[in-house]
Amino acid sequence: MTQLPQIGDWSSLEELVQLQEKQLPAVVGWASRSPFYRSRLGEMRPATLRQLQSVPLTTKDDLRDSYPFGLLAVPRKSLATYHESSGTAGTPTASYYTAEDWVDLAERYARKWIGIGPEDTFLVRTPYALMVTGHLAHAAARLHGATVVPGDNRSSAMTYSRVVRVLHDLGVTLTWSMATETLIWAAAARAAGYEPGPGDFGSLRALFVGGDPMSEAKRRRIQEIWGVPVIEEYGSTETGSLAGECPARRLHLWADRAIFEVCDPATGEVTREGAGQLVVTTLFREAMPLLRYNLADDVEVSYAECPCGWMLPTVRVFGRSAFGYRTGGAIVTQHRLEELVFGLPADRGVLFWRAKALPGQLLVEIEVPSSRREQARTELTQAITRELNADCDVRTVQPGTLVPASVLTAVQDVVKPRGLFGPDEDWDKALLYY
Ligand code: AMP
Ligand code: MG
Ligand code: ZN
Repeated sequence: MTQLPQIGDWSSLEELVQLQEKQLPAVVGWASRSPFYRSRLGEMRPATLRQLQSVPLTTKDDLRDSYPFGLLAVPRKSLATYHESSGTAGTPTASYYTAEDWVDLAERYARKWIGIGPEDTFLVRTPYALMVTGHLAHAAARLHGATVVPGDNRSSAMTYSRVVRVLHDLGVTLTWSMATETLIWAAAARAAGYEPGPGDFGSLRALFVGGDPMSEAKRRRIQEIWGVPVIEEYGSTETGSLAGECPARRLHLWADRAIFEVCDPATGEVTREGAGQLVVTTLFREAMPLLRYNLADDVEVSYAECPCGWMLPTVRVFGRSAFGYRTGGAIVTQHRLEELVFGLPADRGVLFWRAKALPGQLLVEIEVPSSRREQARTELTQAITRELNADCDVRTVQPGTLVPASVLTAVQDVVKPRGLFGPDEDWDKALLYY
């Protein structure tokens, strides 16, 4: 068993680099067993951070071209799980882990300022199918003795009304989902006659969220609604958790488990810190080591000291949609727009919105209760005109338009396929029964 470093094992950034360089030869050795890195590395065996700089970056296309097992560095029988990344149609991006890799994965996920413990009931509300995210939270919660409620968000068996039921009836203490999910739960809770927050959901301690950039305004709004901290997590299917929140509420990169660099996409220059695309070298992953993998996420890495004392670099993640859309002479990003929508006063009751960057104008729809309609429309129009300098048409729609009430309240029977039906039963449900 490889000994995994724990926070506190190093007490300066110099020691952190020593720890990275101590592990580097091992990971290079593992990597060179995979077809991809065998040819990529040739005779190269980098043993220091400086030498590592001569290894070309691994790109997402390299991963795709290596589908399915071009990056496999262990015998197939040593694999514990196989995954594919979200989003991309066409050739998938595969990733795989051994059982030992899973210890590293689960530990990294659980490293947050609010810990996971045996008293916790942990609702996992991210996908289990192919992706790593659901399994990741599940494994982390199991590792720390929590009771896991596997509530996959892509399964038709787990409707929103069922989510609200388990949150309430089981006294769920921790959840894992994308940030927007928690707003839908709030609407679903109200549809079920509850009020989101400590009155009806008093066991809840924190909401773990990730998978998407989140503006501060959105985080504040979710915290206001549920009355608990929203704790951010950053990672990907190809890498597992890369960063988590410290007691000072900053995102720290797990630089004892991976080496991080930043690539300026314009010049190709790679540095230790600053703004650019995040580049990752995994240190404790045997099945599929990655050397200088460019995640193509826009980030900003800093080694400025943080009051938490973790001695790990901090990161701000802008993600892949940081570029935004051009509309009527302005550039609008999801992040800025979200900041303005959730900057509306809470009592306007706006949880859901969507927007379209048309060539001449930004079209925005917000769900607002009728009593606050004009007010919300005027305020948001002013904010967008002032802050984004964009021509906009803000339209208000009835609650239940963007997220239909039927979605919030639907119940779905969990049934099994069968062949024999009674005279009044629907035998169309014989095979495709769900
Ligand atoms: P996936 O490839 O489906 O595993 O999704 C991983 C991607 O989601 C990352 O590469 C980021 O672009 C994005 N992501 C995950 N967590 C965060 C976060 N906390 N902030 C911003 N983007 C995130
Ligand atoms: Mg991905
Ligand atoms: Zn910190």
